[in-house]
Amino acid sequence: MARTVVTGGAGFVGSHLCDRLMADGHHVVCVDNFITGSVDNVAHLAGSGRFELVEADVSQGLAVDGPVDAVLHFASPASPVDYQKFPVETLKVGSFGTFNALELAKDKGARFLLASTSEVYGTALVHPQPESYWGNVNPVGPRSCYDEAKRFGEAATATYRERFGVDTGIVRIFNTFGPRMRTDDGRAIPNFIGQALRGEDITVSGDGTQTRSICYVDDLVEGIVRLLDSGLPGPVNIGNPYEISMLDLARWIQKLTGTDAELVHVPRPQDDPEVRRPDISYAERELGWTPRAPVEQALDDTITWYRDRLTAATPSGEG
Ligand code: NAD
Ligand code: UDP
Repeated sequence: MARTVVTGGAGFVGSHLCDRLMADGHHVVCVDNFITGSVDNVAHLAGSGRFELVEADVSQGLAVDGPVDAVLHFASPASPVDYQKFPVETLKVGSFGTFNALELAKDKGARFLLASTSEVYGTALVHPQPESYWGNVNPVGPRSCYDEAKRFGEAATATYRERFGVDTGIVRIFNTFGPRMRTDDGRAIPNFIGQALRGEDITVSGDGTQTRSICYVDDLVEGIVRLLDSGLPGPVNIGNPYEISMLDLARWIQKLTGTDAELVHVPRPQDDPEVRRPDISYAERELGWTPRAPVEQALDDTITWYRDRLTAATPSGEG
């Protein structure tokens, strides 16, 4: 049985990854300090003898007793609101945290995966973005604590592979959505859904013509597991090329929720990327991976998940 360490395992992506690894028969060690995640996301796994939850800050150190077959480093604040609230913690987990996770993989002879991001492409001048594109990142802007920490993490990962022969892989994750994103994490999809269900104004930043490509979390997890099993170094883009403007996304969520909430325009954050779409030909060719979830169905399922939580949290039962 594979014993797999998942840092950030109590977060949105990490918890879905833990679910999948558990379903595949792994022994999972989930390490999290709950800075942006929650124990609730993995509470359902706690009863299993194959699941361990360790509360620790991986920027301070990462010690795991016994054999380890894989270290998946997913710990990091990930939404612009979160990483701007915790910029130093974000820089530390992308640097010290990545070193600590790499050291663990090196000591244990384990495969290592780094959760990187499409943010390494910055305000991309190439569209869609292939892995060969080096990006266009402002190193001193408001997003740099995240973008540059991830770029540093990629460099550290590539160096450990080159210098120490660690079996590493890098996944560049594009915007992903699904159940368990916090409605206050500030990202467009949980924001729009939360606002629509509460009947509040739906906040579109700028004129809303900027685009993102949105991937359902189950598809992302499938791509990560394939990369884990493949032994490929990457970096590999995992995301759904389904590209949509934020204005159209807000209108779509308005329609799917049947809300009376109105769209309002709010100021656009500095350095907010204009466009984002993954070139996934490498993942298709090398991993046989392609996103499968129809986006409308996935959005609908996600809305239902939020609606159920909101209804349960409202004493009168009115959602
Ligand atoms: P999230 O905030 O829901 O999860 C991150 C988890 O890491 C949280 O549980 C948090 O408590 C934990 N964490 C943060 N710092 C830690 C530390 N020092 N020690 C231990 N635990 C720590 O975010 P997410 O969306 O699930 O993102 C997970 C990973 O995927 C991140 O590395 C992120 O950069 C990457 N990613 C996500 C997306 C996306 O669309 N969700 C896109 C690109 C990259
Ligand atoms: N956005 C928006 N309204 C919101 C939250 C975000 O219009 O309430 C915009 C944001 O400015 C960006 C896009 O939606 O242009 C995606 O933002 P998100 O934080 O989801 O992801 P990221 O910018 O990290 O790709």
